[in-house]
Amino acid sequence: MKHDRNYIQKEVKQQTKKCYKKEAREESIRNWQSQWEETTKGAITKEFFPSVERRLAVNLHLNTNVTTIMSGQGNIRSYLHRLKITDSPECPCKQDIQTTEHLIFQCEKLTLRLLMSYIYGAPILDVSRSHTTTQHSR
Ligand SMILES: [Zn+2]
Repeated sequence: MKHDRNYIQKEVKQQTKKCYKKEAREESIRNWQSQWEETTKGAITKEFFPSVERRLAVNLHLNTNVTTIMSGQGNIRSYLHRLKITDSPECPCKQDIQTTEHLIFQCEKLTLRLLMSYIYGAPILDVSRSHTTTQHSR
């Protein structure tokens, strides 16, 4: 009898703990979502993840390259030019300003295969300079 009561108390404690954890997580996601909706920053990232729920559904292995592509901030000419690090925001393909959108949807020098290798880490591709060297070595 005593054993049963201990078991039940332990079980109730565990369930209560699980319940609090779940509530805390849901509350945290709701707060994150409202901050995500309120901020005027992260326009490019919002293109990839319009909601926190969508972001959490993706198992992303974040690295510098992924962050650069998904934020538009990093080793991309439009960003480097804005910071006055490069003279021109133009992509080496000479078709447009080098932005995340340009690299993903327009740049004829950056293929999907190269973009994926860029995102997944190897080889490191410096999109702020020329990607013709990597392109021709395929
Ligand atoms: Zn280009």
